[in-house]
Amino acid sequence: MKIYEYVVKKPKITSPYGYRINPVTKKKQFHYGLDLISKSGNKNLYAIDNGVVQKVVNNQSKSKTGYGNYVWIRYKNYNLSLLFAHCSKILVKKGDKVTKGQVVAIMGSTGRSTGTHLHLGMTRIGKSAWLNPSKFDMLSDKPVVVYYKVKKGDTLSKIAKKYKTTVKQLCKWNNIKNPNVIKVGQKLRVK
Ligand SMILES: [Zn+2]
Repeated sequence: MKIYEYVVKKPKITSPYGYRINPVTKKKQFHYGLDLISKSGNKNLYAIDNGVVQKVVNNQSKSKTGYGNYVWIRYKNYNLSLLFAHCSKILVKKGDKVTKGQVVAIMGSTGRSTGTHLHLGMTRIGKSAWLNPSKFDMLSDKPVVVYYKVKKGDTLSKIAKKYKTTVKQLCKWNNIKNPNVIKVGQKLRVK
């Protein structure tokens, strides 16, 4: 799944990243972002991961950037900062912690915009070079499974403590009936 497909539900790209004729100025310009609408009409804009709100600007009318109401959120796990521009409403404040799937803003047409859409901008954290948002994927949600080979002197409670889990969970994962009986060399799922 692409990141932009998570930001907007049922997204449709109305203007890709790259050269285009600017719809407002009618001049050939580089478009440093992705313009998106939702085929379902859902105007919610979602946080892609746990992140921190870097910047919020509520400027419906004449902003220098033309972004109208916009918000920047940084996501450490991705080393990405995402810009949501032209929002009708921003639901978070600078410094707020957001969680994956949280609605952080509502799509709108504030600033230099010809209709309701999201302008999605993307950079590395702390960098100013724009990236093409259509090239970035969501990180997998699949849990990481880890195995451990039992050594001499190991007990289930020792292993459980080491991997921050419980004896009960270890027994469940590994189909162990008697927690007091483990063999040296036995492979156990510990995560
Ligand atoms: Zn745009």
